[in-house]
Amino acid sequence: MTETPQTGGPLSWYFRTNLLVRILTGLVLGGIVGIVLGYSPDAAKSFVTYGQFFGDLFIRLLKMIVVPVILFSLITGAASITPSQIGRTGGKTLLYYLVTSIIAVCIGLVVALIFRPGEGLNMVGAEGVAGKVAQSPPLGQVLLNIVPTNPVESLAKGDVLPIIFFALVAGIGLSVLRDSKNETLARQANVLFDACTAAAEVIYKVVGGIMQYAPIGVFFLIAIVFAQQGPKVVGPLFYVTLAVYVGLVLHLVLGYGGLLALFGLSFVKFIKDAQTPMVTAFVTRSSSGTLPVTMRVAEEKLGVPRTISSFILPIGATVNMDGTAIYITICATFIGFAIGSPLDSGQMLTLMITATLAAIGTAGVPGAGALMLIMALESVGLKVDAGSAVAATYALVLGIDALLDMGRTCMNVTGDIAGVTIVAKSEKLLDTSKWE
Ligand code: ASP
Repeated sequence: MTETPQTGGPLSWYFRTNLLVRILTGLVLGGIVGIVLGYSPDAAKSFVTYGQFFGDLFIRLLKMIVVPVILFSLITGAASITPSQIGRTGGKTLLYYLVTSIIAVCIGLVVALIFRPGEGLNMVGAEGVAGKVAQSPPLGQVLLNIVPTNPVESLAKGDVLPIIFFALVAGIGLSVLRDSKNETLARQANVLFDACTAAAEVIYKVVGGIMQYAPIGVFFLIAIVFAQQGPKVVGPLFYVTLAVYVGLVLHLVLGYGGLLALFGLSFVKFIKDAQTPMVTAFVTRSSSGTLPVTMRVAEEKLGVPRTISSFILPIGATVNMDGTAIYITICATFIGFAIGSPLDSGQMLTLMITATLAAIGTAGVPGAGALMLIMALESVGLKVDAGSAVAATYALVLGIDALLDMGRTCMNVTGDIAGVTIVAKSEKLLDTSKWE
């Protein structure tokens, strides 16, 4: 991102420094400050009390624009391509999601079996977490809930899937009308299309402004996580954290790297350009919150046309969660080992299926995956009942969830960007001059 507001004021050094450098500086400084504070509970407490404001401000600013971004980009995206093209691109996208999810759960399981996290921990029920029952609603209901009964209500509540559905059908309707033989209708449709495009442009400009605040928000968010979690990580949970991160990195290199190479795209160039959304996802722990940044980078740096990015990325941010699938697979295996009841092959197969489905159902918000982990645990017979060893171990994992969430969200978002790039390339719509 290159926007550098011209200012001769005292903050000009800030705006003149490359944005990514500033964000990474915020990240590193935040980590250091947080770890140091972690050793002094009182100092950490007051830092969290005051620092929360600045971290939350960043999250709120991003959230503020999520609904308008999805709405306007999807309407303009769907209205800019023909209905048949939507079908083909959509099919390819779904295939990509499926293939990468399968790779993710396989990698998760292999890593879990090599690391065997939790083995010998001999957890017994004690510190009890209240029994939680995660009941997945029937599939029919899940599908029905995608169709909003009142789009305005969905917009107000920020229900992403119904918004996507509404924006897509509205965009397709607009696309058909723009092609209409009735000149008046076609003209009116084009006026509406121009208005939506202008609205989308306004939102992208706002995103640029918000990103100027990102380094400060990042600093506080990271410092708070480390101030609260730091010392605890250097314990038995270090190993499961390591396993999750190894799984994520393997998926990044083998899964995304492999697929990009298959389509003749440079992994190094990809990572270089995807860094800003990756870091944003890492610190905000929200795929949905990162969406505006993801969209900008896909278009401006990677050369994905807006017709494709505005249509695929909002969907990806909601349903494509490979990082979450890896996390669920490894943590469920960890809990099995920790309570002295390692998963057998049947349970592993079930886990692979539920981890894939749970990842699809996970909302792109902080901590959502941890709730889905309960569902996956129940599916393999590890009941999270109050006072049980499973509940106690789950509580441990929950204690470091922020740390795990950072990595998995980062990978969720990376998967979205890799997917949109690959689909654009396969449709011969990628601006390859950006890759030379
Ligand atoms: N925080 C993740 C995301 O937004 C979801 C999760 O908790 O796994 O992608």
